[in-house]
Amino acid sequence: MKNYPESLRLYEEAKLYSPGGVHTSIRNVEPHLIFTRAEGAYVYDADGNRYIDYQAAFGPFILGHNHPYVNGKVIEALGRTDLFGVGTTDLEIELAKKITKHVPSAEQVLFCNSGSEATYHAIRLSRAITGAKKLIKFQGCYHGWHDYVARNMLSAWDKIGTRDPGSAGMMDEAIDNTLICTFNDLENVEETFRQNKGEIAALIVEPIPHNVGCILPQPGFLAGLRQLCTDYGALLIFDEVITGFRHDIGGFQKVAGVTPDLTTMGKAMANGFPIAAVAGKKRYMQRFNTQPGGDVWFAGTYNGHAVGTAASIATIEMMENEPVHEHVFRLGDRMRGGLREILDRLGIEAYVAGFGSVWTTYFMGFEPKHYADLQHNDAEFYVAYRKKLIERGIFKMPMNIKRNSIGYSHTEQDIDDTLEAMEAVLKDMKNKH
Ligand code: PMP
Repeated sequence: MKNYPESLRLYEEAKLYSPGGVHTSIRNVEPHLIFTRAEGAYVYDADGNRYIDYQAAFGPFILGHNHPYVNGKVIEALGRTDLFGVGTTDLEIELAKKITKHVPSAEQVLFCNSGSEATYHAIRLSRAITGAKKLIKFQGCYHGWHDYVARNMLSAWDKIGTRDPGSAGMMDEAIDNTLICTFNDLENVEETFRQNKGEIAALIVEPIPHNVGCILPQPGFLAGLRQLCTDYGALLIFDEVITGFRHDIGGFQKVAGVTPDLTTMGKAMANGFPIAAVAGKKRYMQRFNTQPGGDVWFAGTYNGHAVGTAASIATIEMMENEPVHEHVFRLGDRMRGGLREILDRLGIEAYVAGFGSVWTTYFMGFEPKHYADLQHNDAEFYVAYRKKLIERGIFKMPMNIKRNSIGYSHTEQDIDDTLEAMEAVLKDMKNKH
């Protein structure tokens, strides 16, 4: 069992200088670990404890921490270049070529630094193109911290239909123009389009809502969204900040065979280095004012920085040249299969959800189809289980309905060690329950 005295001491110090001692709200969880080292599939805290990491910093680490090929390419790039503020770098051209080659909807692409920036740009572009103001999003999906999408980001189960802001200080107009629909419910989406005819600029969706674990789109759902957007003259935005590059080098749109008008990407595109992208049909992308005559503002001091672009090129090269997806899909199946077997054997009611390298175990008796179904998950058990795994050196976010991610650095042995720890924890919890 792990002890964390040095982490706890440093956390007290962190709180003196920053509100809550963390730099992203969701990081404020117990135990308050201070991390000092990361390598491959493992992270280490200030007390020297080692953890097999499945939190993967919310998803970027598709290859693993401090991947030598990616880090090497970044260091090499920094030996000759960094950031210019005018013109274009060779790295930006090379990366744009790769993304437009692999991602079906990406006829053109622009780089920024975070997923939130990417979704902001995609939504504003949609509003400029359609002249409409309203945005459809789905309960349980997360698209960033800004006013355009913050509504209902972490709402209670029954908050659909209420005027629930995601944050104090938001602009009323942004809240009022964000309509919330139910994932996997095409009728609900169609009714929303019908009631707001001519007023919807875009529909934004995580093709798999991974922000609440792993809810798979039912057959025909994404294609149905494509059709509705076409029929009602709205742009379809796939927010592939999590799914992009993680599930396929072409994103989940390639897996699903559904091509959106615009796509946002981040996280796994650069294996943990800060870069994100907005991509889409050329006729839409040309409205950005990076193009002479374009009238939709696009800017950022650090856009296209050598660190992010070099890291992303190297990450995509790894996917082009090595069996990255084959490996993480195989390990994902091994984890899910092993877990189902353990849960069956122990007689614990649970649903093991997942796709490829991502999985979670909901403690409920059926497959969730949308966010509200997750109220049946035993949240207390879910969080307690994750906290106990941390004590045994398995790091998963100790919060309700969070997903886990496997990377290319994880081995069969890591999965088997994890299953062993899970079995011990579940057995213990079942006996006490
Ligand atoms: N979209 C999705 C689907 C996300 O999961 C996230 C972040 N978790 C974002 C957008 C926002 O990205 P960032 O945190 O890089 O701003």
